[in-house]
Order: sequence, then C-alpha cells, then structure tokens
Amino acid sequence: MYADCHLHTSFSGDSDTPPREQIEKAISLGMKRICITDHHDYDVISDIDFDLDFPKYFEELSRLREEYRDRIEICTGVEMGLQSHISGYLEELSLKYPFDYIIGSVHFVDGLDPYYDEYFDTHRDNAYERFFEVTLNRIKKISSFDSLGHLDYIVRYGRKHGLSYSYGEFAEYIDPILKVLIEKGKALECNTGALARGMTEPNPCREVFLRYRELGGEMVTLGSDAHSPDSVGSAFVTAGEMLRACGFKYYAVYRERKAEMMKL
Ligand SMILES: [Zn+2]
Ligand SMILES: [Zn+2]
Repeated sequence: MYADCHLHTSFSGDSDTPPREQIEKAISLGMKRICITDHHDYDVISDIDFDLDFPKYFEELSRLREEYRDRIEICTGVEMGLQSHISGYLEELSLKYPFDYIIGSVHFVDGLDPYYDEYFDTHRDNAYERFFEVTLNRIKKISSFDSLGHLDYIVRYGRKHGLSYSYGEFAEYIDPILKVLIEKGKALECNTGALARGMTEPNPCREVFLRYRELGGEMVTLGSDAHSPDSVGSAFVTAGEMLRACGFKYYAVYRERKAEMMKL
C-alpha cells in the first residue's frame, strides 16, 4: 500500500482523531510509511481554530515515531495555508521546525474559505478564476513548501453552486500554475479526499495530471486528506492506476524535506 502523505489528527481544529488512531489504521492497511500533516492556516478569520501548537505537535509525534518505529515510519509534516502577505512568516516557520514535508494549500481567498457559501456569493462571476489566479500569485511568491495541495480544491464546493469545471475551461489559469511548480521543483499532490466522498475525480482532476506530465512534471505526491481513520488511504488503488495511466511511474515521499521516489 502506498504511503499516505496527507493525514489530519486532533492537532487540526477540524479533526477529533487522536494521532494513534490514524497510525493504527495505516498499519492495518499495510502501509510502511505515513506523513501526518496537520493544518496551519496563519492569519485567517474562521470559526475553526487553524493554528497549530508546534512544540506539542513535534513532542507528541516524535514520541509516537519512536514507539512505532518497528511497525511503521511516521513522518512529521504540516499543511500550510499559503497567503502572499505571510510569505516571510512561512519561510521562517519552515526553517524553525524539523519538518519532513510541507504541503502548501490555498484554503482562503480574499479572506473567505470556499467551503462556505459566502465565497461564491461574493465571487459570482469569477469564483474559479479568482481561486486559480490567487493560487498562481502565491506559489510564485512562496517557495517554502514541497507539494501543492489539492490544486482545484474549490471544485469540491463549486458543484453545489452549479458551476461547471474541466481542465480545458480553465487551462489558461491552470497551465501557469503547473509551469511554476515544475520550474521550482515542487510536486503536485494527488488528493483522494473527493474520491472517498463519491466524486469521480481526485483533486486536481485527471486531465491536470496529464497536462502536468506533458509539460515535463514528474513529481507527484499522494494523500487521502483523511480527518478520521475510515478515510486513510482511501481510493489509493484508483489514484495509483490513474497516475500510471497519465505517465507517472513514481510518487514522491519526503523525509527531512528531501524527496524519495517510490514506485507507483
Ligand atoms: Zn487542505
Ligand atoms: Zn488537508
């Protein structure tokens, strides 16, 4: 079973799952390695606390890493919310703590999380365009991450607002994002969270991976975005088949911020 490199625990404001439960589930699925990547969205206004107690996080995960060392390798990562005005803060943070892996994600655009309807109410004509435009600006400015999380995150929520989506419709916005990732040597995450919730495509969708490969992209990462044990490793077989069909032979797993290529 592939290593799941996008996992949340009760260190994230939106999960109640003790780290141990995610670890035990990964072991039961036959995983040899995982990376826990709890949320840290700095300087956002939200009902959910997206801060992260880093000293406590590292203390607890290094204890578990030691306890489970003969059964599974536990890496310590983080899912950082990317925002241009905090690029300096994110850079400092990435150097301050011994992260194995950093996912850079866009969760807030113009102060709003597309998870909530308000984002779509205030961006009626350009909800997707604005999201991709902001993503591009942020990854141009910020380099302190290893993989771009769920590139088309907004599509998870746009469907209920009646918005259509395909790579082709937004190629002019998505292509520059892929090119920046390739130029900077950053990976593109295949996030299977949506597949687990019954959608037909991971984030981003298959066509984005095809295009990334076509442009020369080679680094992909794999993560379930599980907030509870039932979603750990979800749809990984499907995702692996899809990535191979798109021309990828390996996926990247990070230790001490260095990529190791593992067979798909
Ligand atoms: Zn996320
Ligand atoms: Zn996540």
